[in-house]
Amino acid sequence: MATICFFNVPATGHVNPTLPLVRALVERGDRVVYFDTPEFENKVKTTGAEFRALALSYDFVPRQDTLAPFKAMGLIMEQAQRVLPYCVEQARALQPDLILYDTMCPWGSHVAQCLEMPAVTFCSILYIGMQNFLAWPRRTKLTRAMLTHPFYVARGLAHYQWRAAQVWRRHRVRSPWFLDFFVNPGALTLIATSRYFQIGGERFGDKFQFIGPLIAPRADAPPVDLDWLTAKPLVYISLGTLFNDRADFFRLCVDAFRDAPYHVLIALGNRVRVQALGALPAHIRAEPYVLQLQVLPHAAVFITHAGMNSVSEAAWFGTPMTLAPQGGDQDFIAHRVAALGAGVPIDSHRITASELRARTEQTMQDARYRAGSQKIGDSFRAAGGVPRALAALDAFMQKHAPS
Ligand code: UDP
Repeated sequence: MATICFFNVPATGHVNPTLPLVRALVERGDRVVYFDTPEFENKVKTTGAEFRALALSYDFVPRQDTLAPFKAMGLIMEQAQRVLPYCVEQARALQPDLILYDTMCPWGSHVAQCLEMPAVTFCSILYIGMQNFLAWPRRTKLTRAMLTHPFYVARGLAHYQWRAAQVWRRHRVRSPWFLDFFVNPGALTLIATSRYFQIGGERFGDKFQFIGPLIAPRADAPPVDLDWLTAKPLVYISLGTLFNDRADFFRLCVDAFRDAPYHVLIALGNRVRVQALGALPAHIRAEPYVLQLQVLPHAAVFITHAGMNSVSEAAWFGTPMTLAPQGGDQDFIAHRVAALGAGVPIDSHRITASELRARTEQTMQDARYRAGSQKIGDSFRAAGGVPRALAALDAFMQKHAPS
């Protein structure tokens, strides 16, 4: 029985994909101690893992603009400084056999350095780092914004480096180089996608294992009425859980499908109230949060923000996508889905209701998009999932066991 410390950030899209692996570790007898903010305690405890609450005090989504990642780097490092002493103290007492951390938890790799042990990164996002720098898509909003606002970018990087230097002075631990900040590779990195879906997938050597997305049913919302889901073709709309403060876009969706012969389900998130959409026609429903894994198999098309989990879940079921990226890495992910022929990108700030309807119907009716999505889904299933991840972790622990 191994003791494993797992460090994660307070974000549904980073916690959900780890749960099947954590559950499998606990079920086979390992002790998993999971570090995150209290709002994730119940969700994590359903796996049987123990929980340690972190006092992270930042808005995980500081701003919705394209260059927000450059501001986020410094803010995240500020949090690393804040929680590191507690995490190190806890980890020392637990004497773990393995440290696992999410890509966006620099404190995970800091703790591992303090304990002088190698660690494993769990990457639930599209890997965008040094490893595949030359394969990054050039024509995205993010790359364009970086070129047109070099001073903003430089200021963000300087703030990050300043914080990283403080951490070094105080704890003698290194932080990732800035191009690797959001992926923070460990001695081994488990990437929760397939080599086929990963941008520049062929460039990754044996320090990286593509395990595919870990998709398992969750019971974090009441089920949607199955008769309603299946009575007509279903258009499912969600902008995920972070960058979803888009009442304007949800209203546009209602206008686009007001007289459409489909059922339309909108997952609004917790920033926009249903009332903000006005009176809804009977075939359109809106909820704050739905059981997405129950809905997707029945969706004829998914209008999505192109969050990594949402895209992976859609491809798992072969659902074609209309891609409306909002922030962070979503632009890159949307670019990848479109390149693999599984969806059609849109600019959710500029598109009109009639264009949205036309693009979505095109995605729905042209069988090539469903085939493109199914091909990604097949690559995910072939990647091996939880059993492959467990085998990789066992080999890692064996290799690095103290002699
Ligand atoms: N999700 C869900 N119901 C909702 C909205 C989101 O179950 O109504 C889940 C979705 O299945 C996915 C996660 O929340 O697992 C969202 O992660 P993603 O990476 O797609 O986007 P983020 O929320 O991180 O922007």
